Amino acid sequence: MDLETKAQLLAVGTVQLAQPRSGGQVSTAGPGAGGQSIFFQSGQRMVRLSVVASSPLRLESRPDGAAILRDGIEIACGQLVDPLLHCPEQAYITVSERCIYDCKFCAVPKLQGGVKSRQTIRKMVEEARKTGKLHGISLTSGVEESPELEAKRMAEVVRDLLSFGVPIGVSISPFPGVNQILKDAGADEVKYNLETVDRELFDRICPGISFQGIRDALQEAVAVFGRNRVFSNVLVGLGESDETLRQGIDMLTEMGVLPILRAAYPHPLRLGEVEINRPSAERLLEMARYLKKKQEENGLDGELALTGCYRCTGCDLAPGRDL
Ligand code: SF4
Repeated sequence: MDLETKAQLLAVGTVQLAQPRSGGQVSTAGPGAGGQSIFFQSGQRMVRLSVVASSPLRLESRPDGAAILRDGIEIACGQLVDPLLHCPEQAYITVSERCIYDCKFCAVPKLQGGVKSRQTIRKMVEEARKTGKLHGISLTSGVEESPELEAKRMAEVVRDLLSFGVPIGVSISPFPGVNQILKDAGADEVKYNLETVDRELFDRICPGISFQGIRDALQEAVAVFGRNRVFSNVLVGLGESDETLRQGIDMLTEMGVLPILRAAYPHPLRLGEVEINRPSAERLLEMARYLKKKQEENGLDGELALTGCYRCTGCDLAPGRDL
């Protein structure tokens, strides 16, 4: 699968299955939380697509793997990859599947799921390790009561998991002092999501959350965890202009942060709450190329990431891995 084909698949973001798959996981994290998805590997590239019966893309099995078709024409061939926990090669676990905030694109506050115990999390990672494919642990969480309590819980979880001897990345809602708490616990990488780099959009889409607070936490994180160890999701398709996106990429990469440019996904539980225009393949390619250029100018390299989305690459065109 070449870069352009992956961009085309990401621009659609969904696939229908010719044959139902048994044993697929329902994800509690990432785009399409609460739904089923597949991971399709073709050459060095991998893509994650949500399973939707009306998708214009169709997955068919082949004697030696699988193929993705559009309008009856095969556009990529490869293999399906089984996720370990949410994604391949990582135990990617959502600790608190609920949230006091109400970001307008996010399914977690609507799902209002449970909070996993430390024992449950340990067991999940233990099972993942038994496969022999565990290369990293990524922990994410909604906010059950407050960001401070969530960080305290997360620090305990991280300490519990150090004995697995693989890198641990953490993504939570930040606040002043969060970085030292996670560093002291033994986390290797952190991700605090800005979600959009358009300030006006941010206030509308993430009510009650401080853009500046996240920015400050990211800045501090680079000092605590180092360059290439700090990430931030930036959604593409919420109504931001390319110019604003470029300025956001400039800001983050100059700080030493690796942005994850994520095609926004209109979650069925959020219909009508936020207008999402899934970016075209051309826009995804253009922005990914710009991000790569800015990473290089600022001495950053996505390939060095140990956990999370730059390791997985399923949902994005990841500079350092895909281009
Ligand atoms: S790229 Fe990130 S959000 Fe997407 S499947 Fe991989 S780990 Fe999950």
